[in-house]
Amino acid sequence: MLTTGPRGTKDILPDSCGYWQYVEQTIREVCRSFAYQEIRTPVFEHTELFLRGIGETTDIVEKEMYTFADRGKRSITLRPENTAAVVRAYLEHKLYAGPQPTKLFYIGPMFRYDRPQAGRYRQFHQFGIEVLGAKGPAVDAEIISLAVRFFNKLGLNDLKLFINSVGCPECRPVYRAKLQEFFRDKVPNLCADCQSRFDRNPMRILDCKNETCTTHSQGAPHMVDCLCEECTSHFNGLKELLTAAGINFVTNPRLVRGLDYYTKTAFEIQYAPLGAQSAVCGGGRYDGLVAECGGQPTPGIGFAIGIERVLLALEKQALLPVITSAVDVFVAPLGIKTQAAAFKLLTELRQAGITADMDFMDRSLKAQMKYANKYPAKFVALIGEDELEQDKVMLKNMETGSQELINRAELVHMITEGMEK
Ligand code: AMP
Repeated sequence: MLTTGPRGTKDILPDSCGYWQYVEQTIREVCRSFAYQEIRTPVFEHTELFLRGIGETTDIVEKEMYTFADRGKRSITLRPENTAAVVRAYLEHKLYAGPQPTKLFYIGPMFRYDRPQAGRYRQFHQFGIEVLGAKGPAVDAEIISLAVRFFNKLGLNDLKLFINSVGCPECRPVYRAKLQEFFRDKVPNLCADCQSRFDRNPMRILDCKNETCTTHSQGAPHMVDCLCEECTSHFNGLKELLTAAGINFVTNPRLVRGLDYYTKTAFEIQYAPLGAQSAVCGGGRYDGLVAECGGQPTPGIGFAIGIERVLLALEKQALLPVITSAVDVFVAPLGIKTQAAAFKLLTELRQAGITADMDFMDRSLKAQMKYANKYPAKFVALIGEDELEQDKVMLKNMETGSQELINRAELVHMITEGMEK
């Protein structure tokens, strides 16, 4: 127990943190170029926020939340996703009073009691976007193109974008009734989850992964055929914008979110080479959510991308960058008497912005050189007792193998010059 982390969690070890930083840096660059600002919200919230903001009939709320009572007996939940929390922060800090729309992004851990497997964890990380305050399809197209830009920038081009419209509270009841009519005599054949979805949330039957349910939903009516005028024009507008931007898409009528505050656009990006967990990005419009959370009716749209899956895709395609642990200078003290001088030198090098390390293991000269090679270090600065006495340092260029005795006071200057060459 003590030497194993909880199921579904992963340590990100030093040899892969560089990959995470690379992905996070790409996120920041892309978001900056699209004029999005970062927001950081807590990893836990009042449970009520998620009951409202995700919906009590969803799998997340019914089966997957990490909920507990804190010592003050409040019900707290580790965030399973971040849209509800961003909306809460938007209302709490009156971000609607600033320039509109509010364009935000976040990066952080999410928690779901999911069945762990490759690409599916109980603590995982999402990069997400939320835009609040803009209702036209241009914002939908913008966030989709941001996601595509992000993947392309990492070198992932083999993407499939699926889009759909889930309508609005005006046209959805008509569709819902049609769908119930279609499924009525099939209910006994559906899985237990879908049997209960039939009354509460029949659209969710369409995205059930159970094979029998998939078979029985063949031929079901499509939401896009039942859209009201406004939703039709929004959906057509989005398709036109995506086409204009050269972004390929496929309309997928099975892409649904059955709750009232999810409206109009729903989309998913898949990266097929990932196999079973190929969904790398999911998003959609939620024009009813802000009001559901107690604010003025405000349109909103967002997406979330699973960072672990992005990293799996990069690994699969050999697109991970080469991460170096190289240092500019390795300071090698020889003998305990030289340690203080070596440490002073190390401090000066670092203060001058030079990447430096030194031996902390009392190694022999040979072992220190071997260790310096492993980094690799560009230079080794040796201080033996002779050098100490003469205020000198033996500087070895590890690339050329040449070495020279120099005044200790000149070292920083020499290294800076050497690196510039
Ligand atoms: P969702 O919030 O369920 O729409 O998920 C958005 C994205 O987060 C998915 O497309 C996945 O890439 C990722 N994701 C969701 N759940 C998990 C999980 N349990 N483990 C890893 N990634 C996940």
